[in-house]
Amino acid sequence: MKSPCLVWFRRDLRLSDNPALTAARESGSPIIPIFIWETEKRSWEDGAASKVWLHHSLLSLDNSLQKHGSLLHIQMGDPFSVIFTIMKKTGAKSIFWNRLYEPYFIKRDAEIEKKCKREGYHVETFQASLWFAPKEILSKDDTPYRVFTPFWKTCQKNFPLGTPLPAPKKLIVYSGSVSSVSIDKLQLLPKIHWEKNFFPFWKIGEAHAKAKLSSFLKKRVKEYVSKRDYPVEEWGSYLSPHLHFGEISPRQVLHMSQDIPKTEPFLRQIAWREFAQHLLYFFPYTESKALRKSFHSFPWKMNSRLLQKWQRGVTGYPIVDAGMRQLWKTGWMHNRVRMIVASFLVKDLMIPWQEGAQWFWDTLVDADLANNTLGWQWVAGCGADAAPYFRIFNPVLQGEKFDPDGDYVRTYVPEIAPLPSKWIHKPWKAPSDVVKKAGIELGSTYPFPIVDHDVARANALKEYRTWVKHEKT
Ligand SMILES: Cc1cc2nc3c(=O)[nH]c(=O)nc-3n(C[C@H](O)[C@H](O)[C@H](O)COP(=O)(O)OP(=O)(O)OC[C@H]3O[C@@H](n4cnc5c(N)ncnc54)[C@H](O)[C@@H]3O)c2cc1C
Repeated sequence: MKSPCLVWFRRDLRLSDNPALTAARESGSPIIPIFIWETEKRSWEDGAASKVWLHHSLLSLDNSLQKHGSLLHIQMGDPFSVIFTIMKKTGAKSIFWNRLYEPYFIKRDAEIEKKCKREGYHVETFQASLWFAPKEILSKDDTPYRVFTPFWKTCQKNFPLGTPLPAPKKLIVYSGSVSSVSIDKLQLLPKIHWEKNFFPFWKIGEAHAKAKLSSFLKKRVKEYVSKRDYPVEEWGSYLSPHLHFGEISPRQVLHMSQDIPKTEPFLRQIAWREFAQHLLYFFPYTESKALRKSFHSFPWKMNSRLLQKWQRGVTGYPIVDAGMRQLWKTGWMHNRVRMIVASFLVKDLMIPWQEGAQWFWDTLVDADLANNTLGWQWVAGCGADAAPYFRIFNPVLQGEKFDPDGDYVRTYVPEIAPLPSKWIHKPWKAPSDVVKKAGIELGSTYPFPIVDHDVARANALKEYRTWVKHEKT
């Protein structure tokens, strides 16, 4: 009987197109699938909403493995100690995992690999979370891209990527005992069950991720480019948390999109995800600091009172408030609205982008270090290929353009729902009889704007202009 091997699941919570699992299966060794919940404190630990997703995604993976006669063996603690203990107890001689490219994991995994090899174990790792490992897409002079379009063109030149690996039909599983804790023991769910609100919106796990992609490609992708900016209509793929947790691979997405017309704009967005990972890999300091170093001392102004109003969705700008409440209620926010609320925080309120990134980190089910960092720095104008500093979203005009009938606002800000569409994005400008008829008491049932956008915009432009001059000197 061959000695067993470990497959260490991390953010690849799927059986199909999982090269680590396939390699383990092809080795012919009985498999011990493991997941380790790290208990040591570190920066960018999973936020509250991500933990909810992880809980359900682990349940789903465990279910799929049970169909193959195995359990997902769950352990808590320091990964190397856990791995080492299981190896020793079971006589396993090899371990397989799929790589992660965030700064913390690169360093931590390299140490684990070194220690495992020192103990004489066989270690094999794979690229499975991206189309291309970061070093595979470089500019002509072998330097990392800092601009998206040429990066995307180079990705396209390197397509196709080959056929995704099928889920193994049969797994030889280890029949000895391996200690394991229940998923509940990880305490990923909150004590007060606010996460229940998420479930009208989400179905979690590999099968749902594939079904979601397939329905998106069949029904919505053809109109994605013209409709994706309208938050009330569900024209996006909603794949972001599934991609983050690896319930579906980007290669599967590309493969399933292949023969379908009009998928380029959608694939281009997936390429932004690749670009984000690429930037974080080559510029690891960007997880907490702006890519453009001159912005490290930009005079942002922390203001806890205004930050809290933004977080709670009571800024008095309906589109901003709707976005922040959608986030709270569903663990997700539409991309256009993410840009609007982020611009409001960093430009109208001049609050450091890191505060917004931190809030998103805790509240988004798709919180992803690379995508979140790129999104915030793009809006703040301090990252790669960023929006120019003078682009400051006007929350009223953005609302009128992308939520023309006000239905998105009405969904999440019900206290102003009776207002006619003409005023829904600027209730404070509505005639008093209209406001009264709608049953709204401005300043009481719904706030007046916490800042005057025109004044805030002028202030932000002044600060940015001074800064850009300072950057050039
Ligand atoms: C301030 C800010 C913060 C953000 N934080 C995150 C985050 O933490 N996690 C996250 O996954 N996305 C983040 N995004 C990007 C984007 O808003 C979401 O990926 C998108 O809304 C997810 O919806 P979808 O799956 O329907 O996307 P679709 O439009 O269907 O796009 C398909 C996929 O492409 C990727 N993608 C789309 N847009 C972007 C983008 N701008 N940057 C990187 N990847 C992208 C996502 O994986 C997405 O699932 C952020 C954007 C902004 C402006």
